[in-house]
Amino acid sequence: MGSQDDQAPIHFSVNKIAIIGAGPCGLAAARYLKEQNAFETIDVFEQQAEVGGVWNYSPRAPPEVPVPQVTPPDGPPEPPLPPEEGDESGDKAPVFPSPMYDLLHANIPRPLMRYSDLPISQGELIFPSRQEIQEYLVEYARPVRHLIRFSTRVRDVRLVSASDDPKDQWTVDIECLRTGELTRAGPYDAVVVASGHYATVYVPDVPGLREFHAAHPGIVTHAKQYRTATPFQGEKVIVVGNAASGIDIAAQISPVCRKPLLLSVQSPTPPHNLAHTGAEEVPAIAEFLPGPERAVRFTDGRVEHNIDSVIFATGYLYDLPFLRSLSPPLVTNSGRRVQGLYDHLFHIDHPTLAFIGLPIKVVPFPVAESQAALVARTWMNQLSLPTRAEMRRWEAEEEEAVRRGRSPKNFHVWPEGGDVSQSHANHDKSSPRDLSHHYSAVTKRRLPSKIKGAYKFFQIPGIHNLAGLPNVAFFPFDTLEAQAAKPERWTPSPNHPGSSSTTTITTTPSPSGWPSRWPSSSNPAAATHIAVPKSVDESDPRRRIDLATALQYGLAQGYPPLLSWVRQFVRECLVPDPPPYVPGPEVILTCGATDGFAKTLNLFVDQWDEGVDDPRERPGLLCEEVVYTNVLNQARPYGVQVVTVKADEMGMVVRGEGGLEDVLGNWDAGRGKRPHLMYTVTLGHNPTGVVVPIERKREIYAVCSRYDVIIVEDEPYWYLQFPSASVEEAKSRGQSPPPPPSTTTTTTTSSSSSTSGYPFLDSLTPSFLSLDVDGRVVRLDTFSKTVAPGCRLGWLTAQPALIERVERITEATTQQPSGFVQSLISELVLGSSPRNAAARSAFERLSLSSSLTSSSFSGWDTSGWVRWLEGLRGAYERRMVRMCKILDQGSALVTTSAVRETSRNPRSSSSRRPSASEFESDSDSDYVTDPSSEWTPLAVHTTPLLTFRWPKGGMFVWIRVAYETHPLWHAPRATPPPPPPPARTKPEQPPNNDNKQKNILDGPTLSIALMIFLTTAPYRVIIATGSMFDAVDDDSASGWAYHRLCFAAESEERVDAAAERYVRGVHAFWGIRDVERIEDLLGEWEAQRVNREGEEDIVRLDWFGGC
Ligand SMILES: Cc1cc2nc3c(=O)[nH]c(=O)nc-3n(C[C@H](O)[C@H](O)[C@H](O)COP(=O)(O)OP(=O)(O)OC[C@H]3O[C@@H](n4cnc5c(N)ncnc54)[C@H](O)[C@@H]3O)c2cc1C
Repeated sequence: MGSQDDQAPIHFSVNKIAIIGAGPCGLAAARYLKEQNAFETIDVFEQQAEVGGVWNYSPRAPPEVPVPQVTPPDGPPEPPLPPEEGDESGDKAPVFPSPMYDLLHANIPRPLMRYSDLPISQGELIFPSRQEIQEYLVEYARPVRHLIRFSTRVRDVRLVSASDDPKDQWTVDIECLRTGELTRAGPYDAVVVASGHYATVYVPDVPGLREFHAAHPGIVTHAKQYRTATPFQGEKVIVVGNAASGIDIAAQISPVCRKPLLLSVQSPTPPHNLAHTGAEEVPAIAEFLPGPERAVRFTDGRVEHNIDSVIFATGYLYDLPFLRSLSPPLVTNSGRRVQGLYDHLFHIDHPTLAFIGLPIKVVPFPVAESQAALVARTWMNQLSLPTRAEMRRWEAEEEEAVRRGRSPKNFHVWPEGGDVSQSHANHDKSSPRDLSHHYSAVTKRRLPSKIKGAYKFFQIPGIHNLAGLPNVAFFPFDTLEAQAAKPERWTPSPNHPGSSSTTTITTTPSPSGWPSRWPSSSNPAAATHIAVPKSVDESDPRRRIDLATALQYGLAQGYPPLLSWVRQFVRECLVPDPPPYVPGPEVILTCGATDGFAKTLNLFVDQWDEGVDDPRERPGLLCEEVVYTNVLNQARPYGVQVVTVKADEMGMVVRGEGGLEDVLGNWDAGRGKRPHLMYTVTLGHNPTGVVVPIERKREIYAVCSRYDVIIVEDEPYWYLQFPSASVEEAKSRGQSPPPPPSTTTTTTTSSSSSTSGYPFLDSLTPSFLSLDVDGRVVRLDTFSKTVAPGCRLGWLTAQPALIERVERITEATTQQPSGFVQSLISELVLGSSPRNAAARSAFERLSLSSSLTSSSFSGWDTSGWVRWLEGLRGAYERRMVRMCKILDQGSALVTTSAVRETSRNPRSSSSRRPSASEFESDSDSDYVTDPSSEWTPLAVHTTPLLTFRWPKGGMFVWIRVAYETHPLWHAPRATPPPPPPPARTKPEQPPNNDNKQKNILDGPTLSIALMIFLTTAPYRVIIATGSMFDAVDDDSASGWAYHRLCFAAESEERVDAAAERYVRGVHAFWGIRDVERIEDLLGEWEAQRVNREGEEDIVRLDWFGGC
């Protein structure tokens, strides 16, 4: 940022940030910058011992102020008051008295004054007291409190980068006020100045004032020194100034002082304000008169004698004593303006310096919020600043407007409503991007359904239906009832296994932070009863769960109670607070994730036909090299070109060959359109089990933002993240354990500062939604893995404009998910909620079995839902651990043999793959003594067969099978293979001339043989071969070398048996030395005649269920 090219676009590289001040503006800055989770360091320096700025009241007033003072002082900043026993705070730190006084109520109503994400508590008065606001600020500060260094005064901020350095850096000299120690912090890449502008008083230089003050010390004070009216009892008082403080102070003193209190003004006070003060209005003071009479003369010639107090409520000066090194100076001589800024916010020469809260006569908290959001997004390069030349033009035009008589004339005082329009402008900058240029032609043409539009009128209570909906009396169902699990049925696993006393997953873990709505004494295995009555008397559609509404035609967005519950769950638990864009994502219910993806394709993809359409127009879909291929079956018929991105154990690779940047940046336009759609599963990937960490997601997101790619994030396994995987893997393999996981929450909502209120959810890796400042993420969720696949129920989350388009698609296709399912799931997740009181009382009226009482009616509520997910995670995690331990034990084939003289030195053959005949003399042999033969040395051969990482999430173990170590690897086949099946259309791949049928037992062939072999007795295991997940079918596809094992399909006890059979089967397969045996297995495959004898005995490790 040191380069000063006035026309150049400005790019930031901000990692470390200092914030000066923890008042309302500094706190907003800290919260917004922290929420981005994009900055390595955020240090907040606050000279006071508590947050709150001017709201951090001290009963101790400054004993003196400079009289007069018309420019900011150029000496050292005012020293604080020494610590004193009995401060309101009880703290021993030095005190910087604030201008607050004892009986101060805000002059802005509660609902307006607040930050957007934290309401001010309901009080009796519409204008909150200063104490309430201070408590509010302490609460608001909570998520960033750990970033604040209290009692630390910033003495100097200095630019340290050389002028030819393209990057600005700042040092910050700080003084610890408790110890007096001076240190230098930084360097920082950026500095937020939020030091306020109510500290340096303005006292006009009225003729005679200086002498008067010297002659009568203590009579002239400033509003900053006012605390209570008590000292003014019976005194003759003049208050100078009729702005907010002058009026309020006059109104407080007027009842107790000698009447009338004189209110000295330059322009008339509005009558209702004057009446409120009970004061007499007088003109400005023209002169303080010399002599012992303590007299003043007003501009109208009137003289008042025996004045006891003159309180100047004349305001404050801008003063930035720690930034005096900047040239030209920031603060003008008059102290009325900070110059060289764009938008009252960014320093034009050095936009890594930002000033929050400069504007006056605004509603400060919301303005600070919108400024903070703007700064955060700008420094993340998500919003662009104009060029320096444009910013200078803006400042010059503002100056000109003020000079030409803009009202008000003060530069930082915004015209009436200025804060609203500015906030709107900032808000627009925080809105999601318009992605309509990506809509398919069909989507652009869709209009709202007139019929569906009319449905909302049917929800009006008491409305008569002559429009043609079926009569509910004819629905043959009177109730819908079910026995359902209690949410506590399954035992959770620890959220932070390495750091809790329950370090092992195999012991029964204690639920972490679980709200105890479900008493531990209740039988977790027991069922609960839920029922949907025919009709309930409830006018609010979000609370009404009954068959009369659920089985009726309904709104395409979803059944109102369920829709509103899902929306709330997403907003409170899956998206940070505040959301990355305003107003946050919207949801629509779907018939499961497959339906959600189908609608997403419909939304964004135009049909493309080979030989008909322009090859350069071909749409593309980015995905990992292995993928849940059902989505490709959905996409390919559109003519979509599948474009793979390399992935590692942290998900899609961003840099390097085959990484996302390479694929998009070096796109060959002749291949088709650069893909603008990505499909990915990031939380328990199918098939690899990878959980993409938030840091990698941030990199992926940045690239997608740069190339305008929409991210379709399919997250059926989001809650199945296994924190124990790394620890248990290390234990199982005798490796040193990974560093203990941090107990600080990762939070589902992107940063530790934003919590869902559920430790389980907060411990999970967040989704792309948490980073989605552009509104380019479409997330697919499903009840298939949390309730049951047969529900055919899920939801789609995206920015509101996209949801509106999906709603149009839904109106014309599925209309909405089945009412039976929607109402039953509504009842399950909302049943015990107070919101559902109507349904509960209807239940009491039902004539059900006598054993059922209203107390046995209990759906889950959101806390129960989260508890259910937590339990499911525990159950799956335990299975995963069991299976992986057994797989580890069987991952290598260990054999012994007598050593032959010719291969005495095992290292001699280390570079060759073993042939069938020499398999025993494997390169990893160690010599041991055969116990049966005292003198014959034996070689122990270790042949690695299975390599895999323990899955970090999901339902699958992804195993690399070392076919190249099989004794028959590349052995000549006895019978030629049958002709290949007709080639699948693979238009995205170049023709492959090398792909001839080879007459050897290659990897893919052995892979098929092993899969068949495993189904035979005594192994009888079905697995999924990796080739089922190859995104493309060319020579680069390597899925044949993998197995995907599912630990979900079998019961926990059967998981052991299944894994053991699998391992034994693989080992036995390596014992096959006879090509004929392999040919037999392949023959079975070709003839589609897998031996089905004893099928009931077969264990399934395949589970082909979808994402
Ligand atoms: C009497 C009075 C009444 C008001 N009434 C209202 C009202 O009703 N409603 C309303 O919304 N607003 C009101 N305001 C405006 C008020 O200023 C804002 O509400 C808000 O406090 C501005 O926040 P800020 O963070 O910009 O500044 P401040 O609140 O002044 O906070 C600045 C912080 O920076 C710290 N700081 C300063 N210099 C340094 C340094 N060198 N090193 C370290 N820390 C430093 C200070 O200690 C302070 O904590 C009132 C102001 C006054 C004076």
